Amino acid sequence: MKEHKKVTRESAGLGAKYMVIAMVGEPFMDSAFYNRKNNAFPLIDYANEHGIYVVTFTNASLVTEKMLDVLINKGCSLIGKLWSLNSAIDDELTVVKKRWVERKGIMIPKGLALMMDAGFNRVNDGTTRLGADVIVTAKNYAGIPKVVEFLLDNGIKPIIDTMIPTGRAKVNYSALKLKPGQNAWLYKQLAPILGKDFVKDEFVGGCATKQVGLAYDNFGNVKVCCALGANVGNIRTEPISELSKKIYEYRKKLPTYEKEIGTLPACDTAEFIKDQAGLP
Ligand code: SF4
Repeated sequence: MKEHKKVTRESAGLGAKYMVIAMVGEPFMDSAFYNRKNNAFPLIDYANEHGIYVVTFTNASLVTEKMLDVLINKGCSLIGKLWSLNSAIDDELTVVKKRWVERKGIMIPKGLALMMDAGFNRVNDGTTRLGADVIVTAKNYAGIPKVVEFLLDNGIKPIIDTMIPTGRAKVNYSALKLKPGQNAWLYKQLAPILGKDFVKDEFVGGCATKQVGLAYDNFGNVKVCCALGANVGNIRTEPISELSKKIYEYRKKLPTYEKEIGTLPACDTAEFIKDQAGLP
């Protein structure tokens, strides 16, 4: 918590407006994020006090009404997961065996339903505080148009991402990688629902250089983005202002990849990881 506070304070001083908690394990298991004893969210409170809005990715398996009743009144958005409306496929891919419940005639994971019930999906001036991460793989791509329709019908922003081959995805890469034609097929289905330029919003130009500020892992190491490490320093030993400069310099040297038209292009970081690992 002390280290998160240092980053939050110094980042706020540099003008940061948002903090995104992603790819560092399930935040609801982390006492800096959620204090079970007093049902409190110390990191969100600290960030909000410093003018920073918090966006948290969660697998939603641990959320309860009691937590959400408190969270709804804070400056934060939640991003759950919905990779498939087929519970067996979704549970397999997310590696979380969830309870599924019915909402508007469709079975969805209970955690996502609770976040809807708490009002995170209430749309105000076209914006919502609830998103759902939808990772595209060969096992779930065919059901993604239905997932997206459900999310849009219910005020939930779909965050469609092509797979980044790290961790489990790297080990199972050949089974998860889209086969030729599947990517273009999915783009064709999604374009009429989301507008043909929807991929620009999510993937264009390599998000790492355009949208991510400073990212660090659970050991304080500074990263290019939440997915790709960079050996430029650690938040424990250097001020955030110095680390920010270093990471921006580092990013400038990363390659950018040509985007295919009419498909869902992977972000530059994902392509770079594939290149480094020699994956096809
Ligand atoms: S660069 Fe790619 S992996 Fe990194 S945050 Fe952006 S979209 Fe995600």
